[in-house]
Order: sequence, then structure tokens, then C-alpha cells
Amino acid sequence: MSKLHFPDWLQQEGIHLSEKQEQQFQTYYQLLVEWNKKMNLTSITEEDEVYEKHFYDSLTAAFAHDFLNTGKVIDIGAGAGFPSLPIKICYPHLAIVIVDSLKKRITFLEELVSALQLDHVQLVHGRAEDIARDKGHREQYDTALARAVARMPVLTELCVPFVKKDGIFLGMKGASGLVEKKEADKACQQLGCEWLDSFTQKLPNENSERYILRMKKIKPTPKSYPRKAGTPAKKPLL
Ligand code: SAM
Repeated sequence: MSKLHFPDWLQQEGIHLSEKQEQQFQTYYQLLVEWNKKMNLTSITEEDEVYEKHFYDSLTAAFAHDFLNTGKVIDIGAGAGFPSLPIKICYPHLAIVIVDSLKKRITFLEELVSALQLDHVQLVHGRAEDIARDKGHREQYDTALARAVARMPVLTELCVPFVKKDGIFLGMKGASGLVEKKEADKACQQLGCEWLDSFTQKLPNENSERYILRMKKIKPTPKSYPRKAGTPAKKPLL
């Protein structure tokens, strides 16, 4: 029943879906399962589960963060487009950049963005550690976000270099959220941030816990970060 309740669940959080937006989510679901037959995009394919665990879950970011007053967003390791594309559907004014190191997933996203007729979405193939050294991307974004890519200390090093001063990095986490927040204290400080807040939310049907951890950038990230590709994961800033 999640698909049926999806618009009401969002309405309760102040997000009102138009017919066009409901249709975009439907097309997203269809393309996801169709492409998932030829490449590994997600283990969740049952329609109600996709609506709850991918679409609704991605949008929990918008319960914690004001996307109406956000301009440029970067999503690191978006895979099949989560969380940034459900957010883009609901907040069409956003300019979204997606970085993913797997070319096949970028190919799927090109097809998806075109089918959903989303403008101002840029898809970048590469590793966050390398792309963050590019002047066109470093410290250029109001908000960086990521879901299910790495533990928080690693994710902080991958995401914060993209955020401009006074911008926000938002990490989307499961039940381990508060433990990971503590683990990332050092990374937060070394990358030039301070903790802003943490927000918790349960999935409406499945009831599992989610955490949205937000840090604010208060000074530029030192040039030595991110370290070279692979190092943040091998030697996390703990
Ligand atoms: N964020 C999506 C979600 O929540 O469903 C996808 C999660 S998937 C488990 C992790 C994705 O991050 C993969 O698509 C992978 O290619 C990408 N990834 C992992 N490390 C990366 C890095 N250093 N730079 C860019 N992409 C990365």
C-alpha cells in the first residue's frame, strides 16, 4: 500500500505532489525495474518497497533541510539516483550534480533524467576524491548529500570539500546514525565544519529508524583533503 499512501505521507510533511510529479515517480519506478534486469541498480524491486525505501526515504532529507531555499546540490555516489532525484522531482528549481564512480549507473541516470524531463541535472562519472580537486566543483555547492555510500567519517571527507562556506553537508544514515556521528567528530572539524543538528525519522510502514546528520561549513577545507582516491576509506579520519 506504500505507493497508494506515498502522496499522503508527503503531504503530512508539507510536500504536495502534482499529477505530473506522481507520474514522474511512476516512470522512475518503471525504468528502475526495467534497467535493473540488465544491471545491478538495487536489490529492492517490489513497487511498494521502492516507494517507501527509496522514494520516501530519499525525501526524509527534505524533512530536515530547507530545499526551497537551496540552489546547488551535489549528490555523491547516487547509484540509481538516490537521494537527489526524488528530491529534484519535488523541488524542480534545484540544480543537481550527481557524481558516481560507476559508468553503467551514470548511463542509466542519463536515460532516467531524459525520460523524467528534468533540467539542470549534471551527471559526472568519477570518484569524489578526484572530482573534488576540480575548481569547477570544489567549494561550489550550497548542499552536499549522500546516502548509503560509506560510514560517516569517510563520507565527510568525500562530501565536505564540495560545500561552500556556510553551506551544509547532509549525511543520510540508518540505525547506526548517532554512533557514526560521534565517529565523525574529528573529520567534521578537520574538514572545516561544525555539527548543526541531527534529525530522526521512522519509515511509515516498515518502521525502521533513519538519521539525517547535518554539518555546516565554517571555513575552507584544507587543500590536503580529500586525500587520494581510496585513502579516505582505507584510513578514515578517526
Ligand atoms: N546513494 C545510492 C542509494 O542510496 O541507493 C547508491 C548507494 S550505492 C550502495 C553506493 C554508490 O556510491 C555506488 O553507485 C558507487 O559506485 C558509488 N561510490 C562509491 N564510492 C564512490 C566514490 N569515492 N566516488 C563516487 N562514487 C562512489
